[in-house]
This record gives sequence, C-alpha cells and structure tokens, in this order.
Amino acid sequence: MPRSLLFLCVLLLAICLPSAAAEVPNIVFITLDTTRADRMGFLGNTQGLTPNLDLIARQGVVFERAYSQAPLTPVSHATIFTGTYPQFHTVTDFGHPLPSLLPDVPEILQKAGYHTAAFIGSLILDPHAGMAPGFDRGFGFFDAGFRPKTDPDEDRYSTVERRGGDVVSHAINWLGKNPKTPFFMWVHLYDPHAPYDPPAPYDKRFKDHYDGEIAYADASLGKLFTYLRERGLYENTIIVMMSDHGESLGAHGESMHGIFLYDETIRVPLIMKLPNELLAKKRVTTRVRLVDVAPTILSMLSLPLPPTFQGESLVPLMKGAQKADDLPAYAETDYPHRAFGWSALRTLRSGKYLYVRAPKRELYDQSLDKDAAHNLVSTSPAVASTLATQIDDFHDKTAIVRDKSSESQLSAEQAENLSALGYVASTGAAQPGDVLQGADPKDKIGISNVLQQGMIAVEDGRYGEAIPLLQQVLADSPLVTAAQMQLGIALAKTKRYPEAIVALKKSVEQLPDSAQSQYELGLALFETGSWKESVPYFEFVAKKRPKWADAKYSLASVYARTQRVPEAVDLLQEVIQLSPKHFRANLLLGRILTLQHHPSDAVPYLRQAVDSAPDNFEPHAFLADALDQLGDTQGATAERSRAQSLKAPSPN
Ligand SMILES: [Zn+2]
Repeated sequence: MPRSLLFLCVLLLAICLPSAAAEVPNIVFITLDTTRADRMGFLGNTQGLTPNLDLIARQGVVFERAYSQAPLTPVSHATIFTGTYPQFHTVTDFGHPLPSLLPDVPEILQKAGYHTAAFIGSLILDPHAGMAPGFDRGFGFFDAGFRPKTDPDEDRYSTVERRGGDVVSHAINWLGKNPKTPFFMWVHLYDPHAPYDPPAPYDKRFKDHYDGEIAYADASLGKLFTYLRERGLYENTIIVMMSDHGESLGAHGESMHGIFLYDETIRVPLIMKLPNELLAKKRVTTRVRLVDVAPTILSMLSLPLPPTFQGESLVPLMKGAQKADDLPAYAETDYPHRAFGWSALRTLRSGKYLYVRAPKRELYDQSLDKDAAHNLVSTSPAVASTLATQIDDFHDKTAIVRDKSSESQLSAEQAENLSALGYVASTGAAQPGDVLQGADPKDKIGISNVLQQGMIAVEDGRYGEAIPLLQQVLADSPLVTAAQMQLGIALAKTKRYPEAIVALKKSVEQLPDSAQSQYELGLALFETGSWKESVPYFEFVAKKRPKWADAKYSLASVYARTQRVPEAVDLLQEVIQLSPKHFRANLLLGRILTLQHHPSDAVPYLRQAVDSAPDNFEPHAFLADALDQLGDTQGATAERSRAQSLKAPSPN
C-alpha cells in the first residue's frame, strides 16, 4: 500500500475516533442526475421522496446551500472530478474530451491504491460511445455499454439509458466479486432526467412523475446502502452524494435544464457521510460549490491537492462550529450558444446577490427574492456594475487559453445519439466567434422548450404531435439542424412522404455527414417507389455504419429491385452475419435463392425466417415453393396450408 495511505486521515484524525484512523475508508461517490435540491427530505421537502438519502444525511454532513458550476451533465461532472471550472477544464459541451493532463479524483485515488469502479446510468457519460471521452480515466472497471437508438421504437432503457435499479445491481455485483478494499465507486443515476416515467409503483405513488423518478432513484440507492450494511462495509465508507444540476420544471419559462442558471438548476443537494458517523447531523449553512468536492475528498484522505484545483477544501467548514463567509459561486452555460446560436450565460452568486451576465443583464437579491423574480439592474446600477466587473475578472483569471485543436467535434452519429436524450448538439446555428454574442436566451426560451417537446414526442412515437412543434422551431430558427431532421423523420413515419423528402433533403444538406438523415431519406424515397434515387443514400449509410443491419438490408432490398441481384445476395449474407435472426434478410435471401432455383440453399434461410416470425404467412408460402422444387410435396402442402391459415382472417 502506498505510504500516503498509511497517513490517511490526518485531518480526520483530529476529529475522529482513534480506531477509525487505522483503516483506509472506502468511498461511494453518487451523482444523481437532474435532481433539484428542493425535492430532498433533508433539505425540507415534506413529500417523503428520499427516506434513504435522509438517513445518510442524518448520519453525515449536509451542505444546505451547494451550487453547481454548470447545468449540463458532462460539464458539471468534469468540474466535480477535476475540481476546476468549466473555463479551465474546457469540457463545455457534449463530447469534449476531459483533458488527459488534468488530474482527476478517480486517477489520483487509483494511484493512491484504491480499487476504482464506475457504474453509469446514461449514454451521455459513456466514453465508449464517444460521448464523454476521458471520463473513464482512473477507473479499473467502467460499467456503461450504451448504444444509440437506431429506431425511435426501441426501448430507451436498453439503449441510451439504464434504470437506477440496474445501475445499482451492477454495482452490488461488482462489490460481491471484488472484495478488495479500499474501493472508490462512482454510481451515476440518470432516472430523474426527462422523460419522466418512473417504474411501478412510483408512477402511481406520486402524482408528479418527476417526483416519482426521484423516489425511485432513492429506493435504488437504498438497496446499495443496505448491501453495504449487510457486508459490514457501511461504517468505514465515506458516502458522497450530490446532483450534477437541477431541473427548471417551468421556472423562468424553462422546461428542463441547460439554458438558464437560476437556483432551480444550479442549487444542488450535497451530503458527505464520514466513517463511523463522524460529524453526524452537522449542517453547513455557508454557500459552497461542486468545484469544492474534489479538494474536500483529497483533504479528508490527507492526499496532496494538485495545483490545478480551483475549488477549496470544505473540511474546515465541516469541522467548524462558526458560520463562515459564503463562497462566491460561479456558473456558466455555453449550451444556448452552441445549440441555438444565442448568447451563452454566466452567473456569479456573491454576498446576497445573484448576477446574470446576459445581453440583458440581471441582478437579484437572493435574501429577499428567492425566485429571482425582481431584476434590480435598473434600481441598483452600481451593484450591477461591480458584479459585472467581478464576473469578467473571475472568468478571465480562472480560464485557460483554449487549444482549439484539442476540442473534438461530435461525429454526426454522436450528435444523433444526443437527440435521443433530448439535447441538441452543436449545429450550424452556432456562429463562430464570441459565445456571448447572439440573442438573449430569455427572449428565446419558449423555442428551446418547443424543440425539447418535439424531440421527446418523436422519441415516444407521437409523430403527429411532434410535426407542428418542430415546424414552429424551424420557423423561428431555421438553422437548428436537430429540428430539421426530426421533422423529416416524423413526416416519414406518418407516411407524408413528399413533405418528408423535402425536409430530409434539407437535413442532409445541413448535416451531410449524418447517417440517420440519409437513411431516413432513403426510406422515404423507397416508399414512394423512387428506388434508384434512394440507392446513393443507402450506400452512404451502409459504408458509414457497416454494422447497422437494417440499413444494409434496405440497400440490399433496393438492389434486388433494380436488377442488381448478385450485389443484393452478397449484402443479405452480410446482414445475416451481423444479425443471424434478421427476419426480412432471411426471407428475401431465401426467396431470391428459390427464384434462382437453388432450393436447398434457400430452405435454411426460409426456415430461419419462419422461426423469427412464426405468425407471418410469407415465409411459409415461400418455403412451400422451395420444398416443391426439392420434390418434397408433403412438406410443401403443409407449409402452404399453414400460410393459408395465417393469411385467413381470424374467426371472430
Ligand atoms: Zn445531468
């Protein structure tokens, strides 16, 4: 064990029982996505949503006024793990890599001898899906494994996101198989993020489904805490729990999160339960920040803080009896600029004030105006000017010069994955240049809500509802490419092919690299009988995403209809290699081989097609033809009568 760990807990030593210092504590590090502070029982909510977290809170230290530095998942998590501001770690958007030279908590703990593992709830933090490069650094085991939805009808909980219960059961499994201590385990639960659809009984127990998701996440965490207790690990484990950001739920006109920086999205819950219930029931009322979490953890373990850290250790506040001065809390969001071409926003909470740097500046006295409803810029211009200077100075002092070459752009495919989560990727709407240029998001918030509603409606298969919403967005902001593509998809799904083709052609023009736009365009052309015209689009997709079986099948199917049968046969064989039970590929290949008088080659494919879709009459009818060619009259008759019975309308 590294020497540093032998001297663990120097700071804790001063406050802890002698026996507690002997053992290196484990750390369970929980980030609860999109969770508002005001939903926590331990912060005053009376609905009983969080009994398990409330117990942890009673046994630990509660920070009553903790503030996030960004209302977006990867940006906030980068701050949490590196103890630096977004303008320093540069992960200011989806898909930006965590700089490899920037020290982060998991790596520091791994080097200090911790066994590290992460259990993730969403594609958005999955480096293997290209969405959060570098976030697996320092983890010996990183459990994610998400994949894009290739069809809106696919279940989101087996593609882009996982339920909290699954994340926790993976974490418990790992603990069962990896008994070595000390461990550092990151558990990320995505449940409270939209769409709000908690599993039973939480869908019924709480009228509001957002609340139901939080109650479900709490119950899932309860299983983890119970396991730790049963295994005898609980006492010597530090449990840190926070959310990365909250959710607006209509406050200031914002439905979800990402655009604004008011308390609904920036104030977050934060608890630290120490070994042996040290400092139990301690409440810290001083304002603190998520940028302080990393230095606090390392300080508790008596590990040296890297010079890059920009937050400060909260250990003195945890130990101190006296109320200390509030820490100024900075937050920012580039999302309005990157996704829509509007101005980015920055805020500083300093003293009793909240200052919003926006094209139309805002100033609120948070001691009197908790909802940030009364803008004081015109009545307190001197305060506003002072804070305006402070926030710019602070930003410049804490930023590093950004190396443009290190910023990775999301691939078109990753951008498509984002839309499955209700986000818009950087698009043609974002003009190069100053992120603080552009429309004031206050004047535009309605449009971003309409876009989110439209995208979620497409994902839920409510296409008719989505179309007017997406049209409304495009009328206001024609360069929002996500709206253009989703509109094309929704029109195609409702069989409005001519309009879909127009919309999708625009989308392909805007995003020439996007396989999904080209695939959907190919399908719409195919459906209108423009087979030859659809070929280049399907060819593009098959080349770009060689493992997408359905896209390859579509190309094969067009080849088969346009006198390119040998190419169709080769492709169908590739599809079946990728997806051996692919119904339509087996059916079409079996049929082609039958028509080419290769019945014995055809039969295995047709039998597979029967297995894949036993209630469909077609494979039985085609199999009958192949068996006829083989001279198996009895088999052919049986298959033909099976086909007839499946084709016949049901008796009632
Ligand atoms: Zn988040």
